Amino acid sequence: MGLTGLDIFKQLPKTNCGDCGVPTCLAFAMKLAQKQASLDQCPHVTEDAKAALEGASAPPIKLVTIGDGERKLEIGNETVLFRHEETFHHPAGIAVLVEGSLGEEELAARVAAVGEASFERVGQTLQLDAVALQGEGDAFVKAAQVAAEKSAVPLILMNEDPTVMGKALEACGGKKPLICAATTENVEAMAALAKAHACPLVVKGSDLSSLAEVSEKAQAAGATDLVLDSGAREPSQVLANETAIRRAALRKRFRPFGFPTITFAQADDAQDELQQAASYLAKYAGIVVLRQMEPWELLALVTVRQNIYTDPQKPIQIEEGLYEIGSPNEKSPVLVTTNFSLTYFTVEGDVEASRVPAWAVVVDTEGTSVLTAWAAEKFTAEIIAEKVRAFDVASKVEHRKLILPGHVAVLSGKLEEELGQEWQVIVGPRESSGIPSFLRTSWPS
Ligand code: SF4
Repeated sequence: MGLTGLDIFKQLPKTNCGDCGVPTCLAFAMKLAQKQASLDQCPHVTEDAKAALEGASAPPIKLVTIGDGERKLEIGNETVLFRHEETFHHPAGIAVLVEGSLGEEELAARVAAVGEASFERVGQTLQLDAVALQGEGDAFVKAAQVAAEKSAVPLILMNEDPTVMGKALEACGGKKPLICAATTENVEAMAALAKAHACPLVVKGSDLSSLAEVSEKAQAAGATDLVLDSGAREPSQVLANETAIRRAALRKRFRPFGFPTITFAQADDAQDELQQAASYLAKYAGIVVLRQMEPWELLALVTVRQNIYTDPQKPIQIEEGLYEIGSPNEKSPVLVTTNFSLTYFTVEGDVEASRVPAWAVVVDTEGTSVLTAWAAEKFTAEIIAEKVRAFDVASKVEHRKLILPGHVAVLSGKLEEELGQEWQVIVGPRESSGIPSFLRTSWPS
Protein backbone atom coordinates (compact mmCIF):
# COMPACT_ATOMS: atom_id res chain seq x y z
CA MET A 1 0.00 0.00 0.00
CA GLY A 2 1.33 3.49 -0.86
CA LEU A 3 1.86 6.29 1.66
CA THR A 4 -1.00 8.68 2.32
CA GLY A 5 -0.59 12.44 1.99
CA LEU A 6 -0.61 12.77 5.79
CA ASP A 7 2.14 10.12 6.17
CA ILE A 8 4.28 12.15 3.79
CA PHE A 9 3.36 15.50 5.36
CA LYS A 10 4.73 14.32 8.73
CA GLN A 11 8.19 14.01 7.15
CA LEU A 12 8.24 17.45 5.48
CA PRO A 13 9.72 20.66 7.05
CA LYS A 14 6.25 22.31 7.44
CA THR A 15 7.59 25.81 6.69
CA ASN A 16 5.25 26.43 3.75
CA CYS A 17 8.03 28.28 1.92
CA GLY A 18 6.64 27.49 -1.51
CA ASP A 19 10.04 26.61 -3.07
CA CYS A 20 8.59 23.37 -4.41
CA GLY A 21 6.14 25.30 -6.59
CA VAL A 22 3.06 24.73 -4.42
CA PRO A 23 2.09 27.08 -1.58
CA THR A 24 2.11 24.66 1.38
CA CYS A 25 3.86 21.52 2.56
CA LEU A 26 0.46 19.80 2.89
CA ALA A 27 -0.41 20.54 -0.73
CA PHE A 28 3.00 19.21 -1.80
CA ALA A 29 2.47 16.05 0.29
CA MET A 30 -0.89 15.46 -1.43
CA LYS A 31 0.74 15.83 -4.84
CA LEU A 32 3.46 13.37 -3.86
CA ALA A 33 0.88 10.84 -2.68
CA GLN A 34 -0.87 11.13 -6.06
CA LYS A 35 2.50 10.72 -7.82
CA GLN A 36 2.12 14.17 -9.43
CA ALA A 37 5.37 15.46 -7.89
CA SER A 38 8.74 14.05 -6.87
CA LEU A 39 10.47 14.42 -3.53
CA ASP A 40 13.53 16.18 -4.99
CA GLN A 41 11.32 19.21 -5.79
CA CYS A 42 11.55 20.14 -2.07
CA PRO A 43 15.13 21.40 -1.48
CA HIS A 44 14.65 21.45 2.29
CA VAL A 45 13.72 17.84 3.04
CA THR A 46 16.21 16.22 5.46
CA GLU A 47 18.28 13.14 4.60
CA ASP A 48 16.49 11.16 7.32
CA ALA A 49 13.08 12.08 5.92
CA LYS A 50 14.28 11.24 2.41
CA ALA A 51 15.46 7.80 3.51
CA ALA A 52 12.18 7.16 5.36
CA LEU A 53 10.01 8.24 2.45
CA GLU A 54 12.03 6.41 -0.21
CA GLY A 55 12.12 3.27 1.93
CA ALA A 56 8.38 3.39 2.50
CA SER A 57 7.62 3.96 -1.17
CA ALA A 58 9.82 1.06 -2.36
CA PRO A 59 7.85 -1.83 -3.94
CA PRO A 60 6.69 -4.34 -1.30
CA ILE A 61 8.25 -7.21 -3.28
CA LYS A 62 11.47 -6.33 -5.05
CA LEU A 63 11.95 -6.99 -8.75
CA VAL A 64 14.85 -9.45 -9.10
CA THR A 65 16.64 -10.16 -12.39
CA ILE A 66 18.42 -13.47 -13.01
CA GLY A 67 20.82 -13.87 -15.93
CA ASP A 68 21.34 -11.37 -18.71
CA GLY A 69 20.51 -10.92 -22.36
CA GLU A 70 17.27 -11.76 -24.16
CA ARG A 71 16.27 -14.68 -21.93
CA LYS A 72 16.94 -12.98 -18.60
CA LEU A 73 14.31 -13.81 -16.00
CA GLU A 74 12.57 -11.05 -14.04
CA ILE A 75 10.50 -12.04 -11.02
CA GLY A 76 8.82 -10.19 -8.16
CA ASN A 77 7.44 -6.65 -8.06
CA GLU A 78 4.03 -8.12 -7.23
CA THR A 79 1.58 -5.84 -5.47
CA VAL A 80 -1.55 -7.91 -4.77
CA LEU A 81 -2.56 -11.16 -3.12
CA PHE A 82 -5.32 -11.89 -5.61
CA ARG A 83 -5.04 -11.41 -9.36
CA HIS A 84 -8.48 -9.79 -9.70
CA GLU A 85 -7.41 -6.96 -7.35
CA GLU A 86 -5.12 -5.66 -10.13
CA THR A 87 -2.97 -8.20 -12.00
CA PHE A 88 0.15 -10.26 -11.39
CA HIS A 89 3.05 -8.58 -13.12
CA HIS A 90 5.98 -10.93 -13.65
CA PRO A 91 5.23 -14.54 -14.59
CA ALA A 92 6.92 -17.10 -12.35
CA GLY A 93 9.98 -18.75 -13.85
CA ILE A 94 9.91 -22.48 -14.57
CA ALA A 95 13.31 -24.14 -14.11
CA VAL A 96 14.44 -27.72 -14.66
CA LEU A 97 16.95 -29.45 -12.39
CA VAL A 98 20.09 -30.76 -14.12
CA GLU A 99 22.65 -32.96 -12.34
CA GLY A 100 26.21 -31.63 -12.58
CA SER A 101 27.47 -35.22 -12.41
CA LEU A 102 26.26 -35.93 -15.96
CA GLY A 103 28.87 -36.42 -18.65
CA GLU A 104 29.72 -33.27 -20.58
CA GLU A 105 27.80 -34.28 -23.70
CA GLU A 106 24.69 -35.37 -21.83
CA LEU A 107 24.80 -32.25 -19.67
CA ALA A 108 25.10 -29.97 -22.70
CA ALA A 109 22.17 -31.76 -24.39
CA ARG A 110 19.95 -31.52 -21.31
CA VAL A 111 20.76 -27.84 -20.82
CA ALA A 112 20.09 -27.10 -24.49
CA ALA A 113 16.77 -28.99 -24.31
CA VAL A 114 15.57 -26.72 -21.48
CA GLY A 115 16.38 -23.61 -23.51
CA GLU A 116 14.76 -25.00 -26.65
CA ALA A 117 11.50 -26.26 -25.10
CA SER A 118 8.77 -24.11 -26.62
CA PHE A 119 4.99 -24.21 -27.01
CA GLU A 120 2.60 -22.05 -29.03
CA ARG A 121 -0.72 -21.22 -27.40
CA VAL A 122 -3.28 -18.56 -28.35
CA GLY A 123 -0.67 -16.73 -30.39
CA GLN A 124 1.98 -16.64 -27.67
CA THR A 125 5.24 -18.55 -27.42
CA LEU A 126 5.59 -20.21 -24.01
CA GLN A 127 9.05 -21.31 -22.87
CA LEU A 128 11.02 -22.52 -19.86
CA ASP A 129 13.14 -19.99 -18.00
CA ALA A 130 16.12 -21.46 -16.20
CA VAL A 131 18.40 -24.44 -15.61
CA ALA A 132 18.91 -25.35 -11.94
CA LEU A 133 22.30 -27.02 -11.78
CA GLN A 134 23.21 -29.06 -8.72
CA GLY A 135 26.38 -30.94 -7.88
CA GLU A 136 29.48 -31.13 -5.74
CA GLY A 137 33.10 -30.01 -5.83
CA ASP A 138 35.15 -29.64 -9.00
CA ALA A 139 32.60 -31.58 -11.06
CA PHE A 140 30.05 -28.86 -10.21
CA VAL A 141 32.46 -26.10 -11.22
CA LYS A 142 33.13 -27.81 -14.56
CA ALA A 143 29.38 -28.37 -15.07
CA ALA A 144 28.70 -24.68 -14.36
CA GLN A 145 31.20 -23.75 -17.06
CA VAL A 146 29.62 -26.13 -19.61
CA ALA A 147 26.08 -25.02 -18.70
CA ALA A 148 27.01 -21.33 -18.96
CA GLU A 149 28.43 -21.95 -22.44
CA LYS A 150 25.53 -24.07 -23.71
CA SER A 151 22.50 -22.59 -21.94
CA ALA A 152 20.25 -20.06 -23.64
CA VAL A 153 18.45 -19.51 -20.32
CA PRO A 154 19.76 -18.25 -16.95
CA LEU A 155 21.36 -20.63 -14.46
CA ILE A 156 20.52 -21.36 -10.84
CA LEU A 157 23.72 -22.66 -9.20
CA MET A 158 22.83 -25.03 -6.36
CA ASN A 159 25.70 -25.65 -3.95
CA GLU A 160 26.06 -24.43 -0.38
CA ASP A 161 29.88 -24.43 -0.18
CA PRO A 162 31.07 -20.83 -0.66
CA THR A 163 34.49 -21.96 -1.97
CA VAL A 164 32.94 -24.15 -4.65
CA MET A 165 30.36 -21.46 -5.44
CA GLY A 166 33.10 -18.86 -5.84
CA LYS A 167 34.86 -21.05 -8.43
CA ALA A 168 31.57 -21.82 -10.21
CA LEU A 169 30.75 -18.10 -10.45
CA GLU A 170 34.17 -17.45 -12.00
CA ALA A 171 33.51 -20.30 -14.44
CA CYS A 172 30.18 -18.73 -15.46
CA GLY A 173 31.96 -15.63 -16.75
CA GLY A 174 29.62 -12.89 -15.54
CA LYS A 175 26.32 -14.41 -16.67
CA LYS A 176 24.66 -13.39 -13.40
CA PRO A 177 23.31 -16.77 -12.26
CA LEU A 178 21.13 -17.12 -9.18
CA ILE A 179 23.32 -18.31 -6.28
CA CYS A 180 21.55 -21.02 -4.28
CA ALA A 181 21.74 -20.88 -1.33
CA ALA A 182 22.74 -18.81 1.69
CA THR A 183 21.85 -20.49 4.98
CA THR A 184 22.45 -19.69 8.65
CA GLU A 185 25.85 -21.39 8.31
CA ASN A 186 27.23 -19.63 5.23
CA VAL A 187 25.22 -16.41 4.83
CA GLU A 188 28.07 -13.89 5.19
CA ALA A 189 30.32 -15.70 2.69
CA MET A 190 27.50 -16.25 0.16
CA ALA A 191 26.31 -12.66 0.48
CA ALA A 192 29.88 -11.48 -0.17
CA LEU A 193 29.96 -13.58 -3.36
CA ALA A 194 26.59 -12.17 -4.44
CA LYS A 195 27.87 -8.64 -3.88
CA ALA A 196 31.22 -9.22 -5.60
CA HIS A 197 29.64 -10.86 -8.68
CA ALA A 198 26.49 -8.67 -8.71
CA CYS A 199 24.35 -11.82 -8.67
CA PRO A 200 20.98 -12.50 -7.04
CA LEU A 201 21.08 -14.79 -4.01
CA VAL A 202 18.69 -17.40 -2.62
CA VAL A 203 18.36 -17.15 1.16
CA LYS A 204 17.14 -20.36 2.75
CA GLY A 205 15.68 -20.99 6.20
CA SER A 206 14.59 -24.11 8.02
CA ASP A 207 11.36 -22.26 8.90
CA LEU A 208 9.98 -18.75 8.42
CA SER A 209 11.71 -17.28 11.42
CA SER A 210 15.16 -18.52 10.39
CA LEU A 211 14.40 -17.38 6.83
CA ALA A 212 13.78 -13.83 8.08
CA GLU A 213 17.03 -13.97 10.02
CA VAL A 214 19.09 -15.15 7.00
CA SER A 215 17.41 -12.54 4.81
CA GLU A 216 18.34 -9.72 7.22
CA LYS A 217 21.92 -10.96 7.55
CA ALA A 218 22.33 -11.25 3.77
CA GLN A 219 21.10 -7.69 3.29
CA ALA A 220 23.35 -6.42 6.08
CA ALA A 221 26.27 -8.11 4.31
CA GLY A 222 25.52 -6.24 1.09
CA ALA A 223 23.36 -8.67 -0.94
CA THR A 224 20.54 -6.61 -2.43
CA ASP A 225 18.64 -8.97 -4.75
CA LEU A 226 17.30 -11.92 -2.80
CA VAL A 227 15.06 -14.88 -3.56
CA LEU A 228 13.41 -16.59 -0.60
CA ASP A 229 13.40 -20.36 0.05
CA SER A 230 11.38 -21.24 3.16
CA GLY A 231 13.09 -24.64 3.26
CA ALA A 232 9.78 -26.51 3.11
CA ARG A 233 9.47 -29.33 0.58
CA GLU A 234 6.21 -30.99 1.69
CA PRO A 235 3.45 -29.43 -0.50
CA SER A 236 1.01 -28.27 2.20
CA GLN A 237 3.84 -26.64 4.17
CA VAL A 238 5.24 -25.01 1.00
CA LEU A 239 1.82 -23.48 0.25
CA ALA A 240 1.36 -22.31 3.85
CA ASN A 241 4.80 -20.67 3.83
CA GLU A 242 4.34 -19.09 0.39
CA THR A 243 1.06 -17.56 1.51
CA ALA A 244 2.49 -16.31 4.81
CA ILE A 245 5.47 -14.74 3.01
CA ARG A 246 3.28 -12.96 0.44
CA ARG A 247 0.90 -11.69 3.13
CA ALA A 248 3.75 -10.46 5.35
CA ALA A 249 5.36 -8.64 2.41
CA LEU A 250 2.18 -6.96 1.17
CA ARG A 251 0.05 -6.47 4.26
CA LYS A 252 2.75 -5.86 6.90
CA ARG A 253 5.51 -4.58 4.63
CA PHE A 254 7.83 -6.98 6.44
CA ARG A 255 11.11 -6.13 4.73
CA PRO A 256 12.94 -9.47 5.18
CA PHE A 257 10.16 -11.06 3.08
CA GLY A 258 10.00 -8.30 0.46
CA PHE A 259 11.43 -10.55 -2.28
CA PRO A 260 10.18 -13.22 -4.71
CA THR A 261 10.37 -16.89 -3.70
CA ILE A 262 11.69 -20.16 -5.10
CA THR A 263 9.98 -23.54 -4.67
CA PHE A 264 10.94 -27.11 -5.54
CA ALA A 265 8.45 -29.67 -6.87
CA GLN A 266 9.84 -32.97 -5.71
CA ALA A 267 7.79 -35.98 -6.70
CA ASP A 268 9.15 -39.07 -8.46
CA ASP A 269 5.95 -39.36 -10.46
CA ALA A 270 5.58 -36.66 -13.13
CA GLN A 271 1.82 -36.37 -12.53
CA ASP A 272 2.41 -35.65 -8.83
CA GLU A 273 5.20 -33.23 -9.68
CA LEU A 274 2.86 -31.42 -12.06
CA GLN A 275 0.21 -31.05 -9.35
CA GLN A 276 2.73 -29.65 -6.90
CA ALA A 277 4.24 -27.25 -9.42
CA ALA A 278 0.84 -25.97 -10.59
CA SER A 279 -0.14 -25.29 -6.96
CA TYR A 280 3.08 -23.39 -6.37
CA LEU A 281 2.52 -21.32 -9.52
CA ALA A 282 -0.89 -20.35 -8.20
CA LYS A 283 0.41 -19.40 -4.73
CA TYR A 284 2.91 -17.59 -4.99
CA ALA A 285 6.17 -18.95 -6.31
CA GLY A 286 8.54 -16.66 -8.19
CA ILE A 287 10.38 -19.74 -9.50
CA VAL A 288 9.30 -23.38 -9.60
CA VAL A 289 12.07 -25.95 -10.04
CA LEU A 290 11.10 -29.29 -11.62
CA ARG A 291 13.03 -32.54 -11.67
CA GLN A 292 11.43 -33.87 -14.82
CA MET A 293 10.55 -32.42 -18.20
CA GLU A 294 7.90 -34.54 -19.82
CA PRO A 295 6.44 -32.48 -22.69
CA TRP A 296 2.83 -33.04 -21.48
CA GLU A 297 3.84 -31.87 -18.02
CA LEU A 298 5.54 -28.74 -19.34
CA LEU A 299 2.64 -27.84 -21.64
CA ALA A 300 0.19 -28.08 -18.74
CA LEU A 301 2.41 -25.93 -16.54
CA VAL A 302 3.11 -23.16 -19.03
CA THR A 303 -0.64 -23.07 -19.76
CA VAL A 304 -1.49 -22.72 -16.06
CA ARG A 305 1.10 -19.98 -15.76
CA GLN A 306 -0.21 -18.17 -18.84
CA ASN A 307 -3.71 -18.16 -17.38
CA ILE A 308 -2.60 -16.93 -13.95
CA TYR A 309 -0.46 -14.14 -15.33
CA THR A 310 -2.87 -12.82 -17.97
CA ASP A 311 -4.11 -9.37 -17.02
CA PRO A 312 -7.81 -9.90 -16.13
CA GLN A 313 -8.58 -6.37 -17.38
CA LYS A 314 -6.90 -6.91 -20.78
CA PRO A 315 -7.91 -10.14 -22.48
CA ILE A 316 -5.35 -11.54 -24.91
CA GLN A 317 -6.40 -10.40 -28.35
CA ILE A 318 -5.22 -10.39 -31.95
CA GLU A 319 -5.34 -7.70 -34.62
CA GLU A 320 -8.59 -7.51 -36.53
CA GLY A 321 -8.44 -8.29 -40.24
CA LEU A 322 -9.01 -10.95 -42.88
CA TYR A 323 -7.01 -14.06 -41.96
CA GLU A 324 -6.05 -17.02 -44.15
CA ILE A 325 -6.44 -20.43 -42.52
CA GLY A 326 -4.60 -22.93 -44.70
CA SER A 327 -4.35 -21.72 -48.30
CA PRO A 328 -7.84 -20.47 -49.15
CA ASN A 329 -8.86 -19.51 -52.69
CA GLU A 330 -11.83 -17.82 -54.33
CA LYS A 331 -14.07 -20.81 -53.61
CA SER A 332 -13.17 -21.14 -49.93
CA PRO A 333 -15.66 -20.47 -47.13
CA VAL A 334 -15.61 -17.19 -45.19
CA LEU A 335 -16.21 -17.38 -41.44
CA VAL A 336 -16.77 -14.48 -39.06
CA THR A 337 -15.41 -14.42 -35.53
CA THR A 338 -14.06 -12.04 -32.84
CA ASN A 339 -10.50 -11.03 -31.95
CA PHE A 340 -10.45 -12.70 -28.51
CA SER A 341 -7.33 -14.87 -28.89
CA LEU A 342 -8.84 -17.94 -27.30
CA THR A 343 -11.85 -17.70 -29.65
CA TYR A 344 -9.80 -17.06 -32.81
CA PHE A 345 -7.19 -19.76 -32.20
CA THR A 346 -9.88 -22.29 -31.31
CA VAL A 347 -11.67 -21.50 -34.57
CA GLU A 348 -8.37 -21.65 -36.46
CA GLY A 349 -7.56 -25.07 -34.99
CA ASP A 350 -11.01 -26.43 -35.81
CA VAL A 351 -10.88 -25.11 -39.39
CA GLU A 352 -7.47 -26.75 -39.82
CA ALA A 353 -8.91 -29.99 -38.45
CA SER A 354 -11.64 -29.84 -41.13
CA ARG A 355 -8.95 -29.74 -43.88
CA VAL A 356 -11.10 -27.13 -45.66
CA PRO A 357 -8.99 -23.96 -46.12
CA ALA A 358 -10.97 -20.85 -45.19
CA TRP A 359 -10.98 -17.10 -44.78
CA ALA A 360 -11.71 -15.64 -41.36
CA VAL A 361 -13.14 -12.15 -40.89
CA VAL A 362 -11.83 -11.20 -37.45
CA VAL A 363 -13.73 -8.32 -35.87
CA ASP A 364 -12.16 -6.17 -33.15
CA THR A 365 -14.41 -6.72 -30.12
CA GLU A 366 -11.75 -5.58 -27.62
CA GLY A 367 -10.78 -9.15 -26.91
CA THR A 368 -14.21 -10.46 -25.96
CA SER A 369 -15.79 -13.72 -27.08
CA VAL A 370 -18.73 -13.95 -29.49
CA LEU A 371 -21.62 -13.91 -26.99
CA THR A 372 -20.02 -11.33 -24.70
CA ALA A 373 -19.25 -9.08 -27.66
CA TRP A 374 -22.79 -9.42 -28.99
CA ALA A 375 -24.27 -8.59 -25.55
CA ALA A 376 -22.00 -5.53 -25.35
CA GLU A 377 -23.00 -4.45 -28.89
CA LYS A 378 -19.45 -4.83 -30.16
CA PHE A 379 -20.43 -7.61 -32.60
CA THR A 380 -23.49 -6.28 -34.38
CA ALA A 381 -24.72 -6.75 -37.96
CA GLU A 382 -23.66 -3.18 -38.79
CA ILE A 383 -20.13 -3.69 -37.45
CA ILE A 384 -19.66 -7.07 -39.16
CA ALA A 385 -20.91 -5.70 -42.50
CA GLU A 386 -18.59 -2.72 -42.19
CA LYS A 387 -15.59 -5.06 -41.62
CA VAL A 388 -16.53 -7.30 -44.55
CA ARG A 389 -16.42 -4.20 -46.76
CA ALA A 390 -13.29 -2.73 -45.10
CA PHE A 391 -11.35 -6.00 -45.53
CA ASP A 392 -12.56 -6.22 -49.18
CA VAL A 393 -13.73 -9.81 -48.74
CA ALA A 394 -15.61 -9.60 -52.06
CA SER A 395 -12.30 -9.36 -53.94
CA LYS A 396 -11.05 -12.63 -52.42
CA VAL A 397 -13.98 -14.94 -53.17
CA GLU A 398 -16.27 -15.43 -56.13
CA HIS A 399 -19.22 -16.59 -54.00
CA ARG A 400 -21.10 -14.28 -51.62
CA LYS A 401 -21.62 -16.47 -48.57
CA LEU A 402 -20.70 -15.59 -45.00
CA ILE A 403 -20.73 -18.11 -42.13
CA LEU A 404 -21.91 -16.57 -38.87
CA PRO A 405 -21.30 -18.16 -35.43
CA GLY A 406 -24.42 -20.07 -34.39
CA HIS A 407 -24.57 -18.23 -31.05
CA VAL A 408 -25.47 -15.02 -32.90
CA ALA A 409 -27.89 -16.53 -35.43
CA VAL A 410 -30.24 -13.71 -34.47
CA LEU A 411 -28.04 -11.32 -36.49
CA SER A 412 -28.37 -13.19 -39.78
CA GLY A 413 -31.38 -11.31 -41.23
CA LYS A 414 -30.07 -7.87 -40.34
CA LEU A 415 -26.59 -8.79 -41.60
CA GLU A 416 -27.99 -9.81 -45.02
CA GLU A 417 -29.76 -6.44 -45.15
CA GLU A 418 -26.58 -4.59 -44.27
CA LEU A 419 -24.44 -6.51 -46.79
CA GLY A 420 -26.87 -6.16 -49.67
CA GLN A 421 -28.92 -8.59 -51.69
CA GLU A 422 -26.12 -10.57 -53.30
CA TRP A 423 -24.85 -11.87 -49.94
CA GLN A 424 -26.21 -14.92 -48.20
CA VAL A 425 -25.58 -15.35 -44.47
CA ILE A 426 -25.27 -18.98 -43.34
CA VAL A 427 -25.66 -19.80 -39.66
CA GLY A 428 -22.75 -21.97 -38.58
CA PRO A 429 -22.38 -24.19 -35.51
CA ARG A 430 -22.84 -22.71 -32.05
CA GLU A 431 -19.55 -24.13 -30.80
CA SER A 432 -16.24 -24.03 -32.63
CA SER A 433 -15.90 -27.79 -32.14
CA GLY A 434 -18.75 -28.19 -34.63
CA ILE A 435 -16.80 -26.47 -37.43
CA PRO A 436 -14.99 -29.56 -38.86
CA SER A 437 -18.16 -31.56 -39.50
CA PHE A 438 -20.03 -28.41 -40.57
CA LEU A 439 -17.45 -27.51 -43.23
CA ARG A 440 -16.99 -31.07 -44.43
CA THR A 441 -20.71 -31.64 -44.89
CA SER A 442 -21.99 -28.16 -45.79
CA TRP A 443 -19.27 -26.72 -47.95
CA PRO A 444 -18.85 -28.06 -51.51
CA SER A 445 -15.29 -29.30 -52.01
S1 SF4 B 1 9.63 23.35 -0.63
FE1 SF4 B 1 9.46 21.85 1.00
S2 SF4 B 1 9.34 23.07 2.83
FE2 SF4 B 1 8.86 24.44 1.16
S3 SF4 B 1 6.62 24.32 0.93
FE3 SF4 B 1 7.47 22.83 -0.43
S4 SF4 B 1 7.45 20.99 0.79
FE4 SF4 B 1 7.24 22.63 2.24
